[in-house]
Amino acid sequence: MKDMRTLIGLFLFGCCMFVSLDMVQCATSIKTRPNIVFLMADDHAAHAISAYGSVINKTPNLDRLAQEGMRFDRCFAVNSICTPSRATILTGKYSHINGVPVFNRFDGSQPTVAKHLQASGYYTGMIGKWHLGSDPTGFDQWTVLPGQGAYFNPDFLVPAGRKKIEGYATDIITDLAIDFLKNRPKDQPFFLMCHHKAPHRPWEPDAKHKAMFAGRNIPEPATLRDDYSTRSDALHENRQRVFEDLTRSDLKLLPPAGTTGPALNEWLNVKPTEVEIVENGQKKTLRGEELNRWKYQRYMQDYLACIQSVDDNVGRLLDWLDANGLSENTIVIYTSDQGFFLGDHGLYDKRFMYEPSIKMPFLVRWPGVIKPGSVQKSLAINPDFAPTFLEASGLAVPKDMQGRSLLPLLKGQQPPNWRTSFYYRYYHDPGNHNTRVHYGVRTDTHKLIYYWKKDQWELFDLQADPHELRNLYNDPQQKPTIEKLKVELARLRKELNEEDKFADQLPADGVDGPFPDKKRIAPTTL
Ligand code: CA
Repeated sequence: MKDMRTLIGLFLFGCCMFVSLDMVQCATSIKTRPNIVFLMADDHAAHAISAYGSVINKTPNLDRLAQEGMRFDRCFAVNSICTPSRATILTGKYSHINGVPVFNRFDGSQPTVAKHLQASGYYTGMIGKWHLGSDPTGFDQWTVLPGQGAYFNPDFLVPAGRKKIEGYATDIITDLAIDFLKNRPKDQPFFLMCHHKAPHRPWEPDAKHKAMFAGRNIPEPATLRDDYSTRSDALHENRQRVFEDLTRSDLKLLPPAGTTGPALNEWLNVKPTEVEIVENGQKKTLRGEELNRWKYQRYMQDYLACIQSVDDNVGRLLDWLDANGLSENTIVIYTSDQGFFLGDHGLYDKRFMYEPSIKMPFLVRWPGVIKPGSVQKSLAINPDFAPTFLEASGLAVPKDMQGRSLLPLLKGQQPPNWRTSFYYRYYHDPGNHNTRVHYGVRTDTHKLIYYWKKDQWELFDLQADPHELRNLYNDPQQKPTIEKLKVELARLRKELNEEDKFADQLPADGVDGPFPDKKRIAPTTL
């Protein structure tokens, strides 16, 4: 009898063990299939986020992601321009592999992170700026801006056609993202890409946020008056300078009454060398250095006001996740498709391989996995995003993806063989700003850039010269460093199958504007 009791006891204990192990496995599988909310702004530089030490604005809601998650300090775009970065994020591949070096139409038949997640059981959505010239694929639901889209009362494309939504783009995109979350099937994990249009040029804030920045004095960056000495001709020739290249349209100047049609466009496109303003009720004409200072202020006031709306709206989405019990098992990412020059080197826009342009903000919150308030210094690049989402959802990373999952870094591990360099290439030449093609390598400590049409090089010591003001390429003492970097550059190009396929191929339009609808593909031919 005693033996029988022992046997029954052992049997029951075994059952309990089986059940509890099963529950652990079940809990693990839920934990390995987290929801993913990928929030991306357009042209939002990390140095306009207070968690990154901004001295020009405060972003309390983005800061919340940094406080509750991980801030990546060295995350970079491998081709710093809107459409290519989006194609890279979707595919985990460089531009020369995914076919989008400039504003080429994205071939939506290729594998993407959204397709992999959808096929494995995720409910997938794409809301906001898409700008890839073809219809989104791999999404159960999509509502996207046509081309660059409009800030006010924008049109949106959906599978069934086109619809206009009244309001301000950043608010509307957040409303649509929340609608997607509300209406999703509750028995599937979800993957949401929510892409804001803001703060992309023409930097049009809504009235509330415009008022917050009107008249505010924004500190000038240290390199606003960079004289470009020692740098390549490419920097001297560029036309993306705050003092010289902002147009009347960028500066929101009002045309004389009655100016319409082509005359209005002509007036707006002028880069003014004098501007008449009203100050304390008196008319005043600004010229020279006074005008320069004013232009920088006008540029930044609008840019930062656009960001303040993004910050508010990220807060609204985070609050919604909290209120609906979704924060615990949802990875929330905030990033931008690239960085942006905020007057750094006297520039606006991006494109160049300099730090303010290629550095992406990358904030990740994942409760229970990421240590709150952690900071990551390892090199990350935008081809890493797709592999990260796949591995986080329990999927294998396809071998042809060129990025690497950031999951170990998110868990606080430091793999001994993590990358110590990455390859960069920019193709859009002359493009909208007469920016020269170039490629290069960035390591933890140095950057080597080759402007191959000019056959000119730049070398920067990022530790001694973080603002990249002194090109050391012609310094004889740097010869060993240069040799080493050239070997590394060649190694990376080989590893990435870089065969200069797009060296001289630019799209016929080459315009950083809305893609003509005729280039869109089925099922929505509008
Ligand atoms: Ca962009």
